Amino acid sequence: MSTYSYVVDIIENNNNLLDVIVEVQGNAPESILNDIPVIQTYKQLLSFIKKHPFHSILFVKRKSNELIVKRIIELLNEYEVTSNITVLEGMEDADTNKEAYVTFFNGVKTFITGMYPQHFHHTKMKHLLVKDQSEISHDLKTRLLYSSNINSSLLLPEAPTALEELESWFGLAQISLQEKENQHYNVVIKEKANIHTKEVVVLSFHTFTENPSVKEGDNEIFLTIDTVDDYLSFSATVRHTELTGTLRIMHILPHIKDECMWSHKSVCSLRSGTRLAVGQPNVLQSPVCYSIGKEELTNKPIASVFDREFSKAFILSGCHTCRALPDCPSCIKMAPQTEEKKHYCSIRQTLPFVTEFITIRNILKSFFYGQQRFVSPSETVAFSTKVKKLFYDKESTREKALSSQLYFLFSWKEDVYLYIKRTMKFYKINNLLATYLEGKMLGETEKEIQAYIQDKHNWSLEIYEQFNEKATLFTQKVGLS
Ligand code: SF4
Ligand code: SF4
Repeated sequence: MSTYSYVVDIIENNNNLLDVIVEVQGNAPESILNDIPVIQTYKQLLSFIKKHPFHSILFVKRKSNELIVKRIIELLNEYEVTSNITVLEGMEDADTNKEAYVTFFNGVKTFITGMYPQHFHHTKMKHLLVKDQSEISHDLKTRLLYSSNINSSLLLPEAPTALEELESWFGLAQISLQEKENQHYNVVIKEKANIHTKEVVVLSFHTFTENPSVKEGDNEIFLTIDTVDDYLSFSATVRHTELTGTLRIMHILPHIKDECMWSHKSVCSLRSGTRLAVGQPNVLQSPVCYSIGKEELTNKPIASVFDREFSKAFILSGCHTCRALPDCPSCIKMAPQTEEKKHYCSIRQTLPFVTEFITIRNILKSFFYGQQRFVSPSETVAFSTKVKKLFYDKESTREKALSSQLYFLFSWKEDVYLYIKRTMKFYKINNLLATYLEGKMLGETEKEIQAYIQDKHNWSLEIYEQFNEKATLFTQKVGLS
């Protein structure tokens, strides 16, 4: 049997996260090269090493990855994986973005909202919240690390001095969520030797809605939806948005804690173990679904604990016969038969637009976060809903749902924008093109769209054909046809 030397280099990318690159030294057949997996978790890396006991593995150690390499060697010893491993010391790092805390703060936002991108559901634990580290045994620490993504973070409700002294056993960053006064929190992020602090504000949804104020330079705002008043206020906002096809920017910018519960069921990360809290019932003083006692973790696989919780809630809520089931994540955050759960189910059943509301909010949030110029929070963005059509406003399609999974159209100030979901890119377009694309979203045929546009603008066939040619070229250029 031929033996090979695999070089494992864990390189810091421009977002200050780590990419695991595995290469074979020398000439190797295609079958060996094709057998190298994509590695994002400690478990995947250990499995790869286990699978190659007779080959040599060379780890390239750099300043940016020395902690990870050390943890991998420790895990190999813990799990008694014997392999021919050597470490190449002292390699230089490439220059990367120095604002690493921005990446980790964005991670905190994802942790709080639960809006993880789909691929994170298959790449083990991204965020671990631990109430009291001293209660976590060495064995449990090993299991948690083994079940985590290489680019994970540890969250703690502790003081910054504790962060400085922290023995780093989990995550690229250690982050504490410290309550200050008056609904203000400090998010303190330690990555390598650097410590950054970012202030955030936590408000209940109904308090914010009664007095919505977001000013330029304001701290990031997180909204909680926990009480009956919050549910009522949230459902009124969703209903108003569907009826008017408008959202004010101040309603787009705040993050919603556990926003995933209002999104499509595919967003729920409960059973994938993407975020986990050990012995910590609340986050920002609000309950979470992913909390687990350390005893349960010691005895059972993480996934089985949440599978059981989910099945229990699913049966008690009668989800299997519910009309909202195709979209609803059957969220387990609220106990069954409580007022909150009743309001949750009522919103999901009577306002199916809620799923779209969350999608629209997030598309617009990424647009306004990317704006270099000042955006006034009181400005309004307009878009189409099933009830209100902004561009293709034709009698026979007024009640029709918009069915495009590919793109989204909106208007802000005097301009119209197209967002392509696959590439996550925004384009400024004109009203006519928006009308054409909205017609397509409504399932109209080319002939119907042509008749509508010609009629509306009193166009000859020749003018329409010129427009249609440009529209076709544009849709090809942006990957829509
Ligand atoms: S159970 Fe609810 S809150 Fe928890 S991840 Fe799923 S949708 Fe989000
Ligand atoms: S609305 Fe309620 S009952 Fe229906 S699927 Fe969702 S959680 Fe289950």
